[in-house]
Amino acid sequence: MTLDQQIGEPRRFRTFGDELRKRFGGRVQRISIDAGFTCPNVDGAVAQGGCNFCDNRSFSPSRRVRLAAVADQLSRGIQSVRKRYGKVAGFIAYFQPATNTYAPVDQLEELYRLALQHSPEIVGLAIGTRPDCASDPVLDLIDQLAAETYVSLEYGMQSRHDATLAWMNRAHQHGHMIDAMNRSRGRRFETCAHVILGAAGETHEQMMHTARSIGVLGVDAVKIHNLYAVRNTPLGESVLRGEVQLMERDAYIRAVVEFLRLIPEQVIVERISGDAPPDYLIGPQWCLEKSELRAAIERELVRLNAFQGDRYDPDWRDEPVAPLPTPPAIAARIGSRGRLPVLKLQGR
Ligand code: SF4
Repeated sequence: MTLDQQIGEPRRFRTFGDELRKRFGGRVQRISIDAGFTCPNVDGAVAQGGCNFCDNRSFSPSRRVRLAAVADQLSRGIQSVRKRYGKVAGFIAYFQPATNTYAPVDQLEELYRLALQHSPEIVGLAIGTRPDCASDPVLDLIDQLAAETYVSLEYGMQSRHDATLAWMNRAHQHGHMIDAMNRSRGRRFETCAHVILGAAGETHEQMMHTARSIGVLGVDAVKIHNLYAVRNTPLGESVLRGEVQLMERDAYIRAVVEFLRLIPEQVIVERISGDAPPDYLIGPQWCLEKSELRAAIERELVRLNAFQGDRYDPDWRDEPVAPLPTPPAIAARIGSRGRLPVLKLQGR
C-alpha cells in the first residue's frame, strides 16, 4: 500500500511528516535544543542588533549560563513528545535558536556528537544557521556526520531580494545564499531554505521570485513562514506603532499556494506557516490557528486542482547574482574568541 493510499487521497504537496515516515518507518519528532550559540548579526561580527523580527536578548552569555545542558534538554523533549504522541519512531535533535555553526569546528563536532549519542532514539540532526556562516570546514564536518546519520542543514535565506534582507537587518545578501548552496549541493546532508513571506514592501511578484529561486538554488527542502511580530523586537515596535502592516490571511494563503506551485515537486515542504506563543505574539493573530490555516491552504489547492510543482519551470533563469563568500570577520571572530564558554557548560 502506498503512502497516498494509506492517507486516502493524493497529497497536494510533499510534506515533511510523510517524508520522515517513509525514511524512518513512523512518526519522527524534532526536539529543539538551545545550545547557547550567539549570532554574528548580534555580537558585532557582521552587525549588531540582529534581525528586526528576532528577540535576541536571550543570546547574551549571562542569560545562556542558566541554560540546561543539551543532554537534559533532549531528555525533557523526548519525555514530553512521548507524553503527547505515545509511540514515536525516533527524534531529530534540532539545534534551533541563534546561529548553530558559529563556533570552532572541533567544538561543533563535540556538540553535534553529544546530541547524536544521547540516545539510540536520536535518528538525526537538524542545524539552523545563516548562509554566511557555513565555512568549508563546517560543511566538511556536517558532510561527514551525514555519512553516519540523517542531517539537515537549514539556511535562513528569508528572501531572494537584497532590499528585503536589508529591511530585516539580516546583514547578509542573497549572494551568500548562492555561495552557501554552491558549496553544499552534492554533499550528503539535506539542505533546507527558511523563507519568510510578507515582509514590508515585498510584492506578491517578489515573493514568487523567491519561490522560483528555490528551484535554481537546488535546496532539498523549504520552510515557509509568514512574517510575524513578537514582543521586544524592532518589528514588534513598528507594528505596535502602526508603521508596518502584517500580511492578511487571505493574501498569505494565496502566496503559499502559488509558492508551492512554483517550486519543484521533489522539494520537501517542512512548514507552511510559523507562529509564536500567544502572550508573546503581537500579530498576525490568524497564524495561531495553525491547523485551520493549513486546512485552508489545502482547500485552496484542491479548489484550483493545483499541486506542488505544477507551475515549476526548470528553464527559468534568475538574474545573475554574484556569490558572496563567508565574511572574513566571521572566521576572525570565531578564531579570536575561541571555544564558546557557554557551550563548554553543555558538555558532559
Ligand atoms: S540571523 Fe537568526 S539568530 Fe541571528 S539575529 Fe537573525 S534571526 Fe536572530
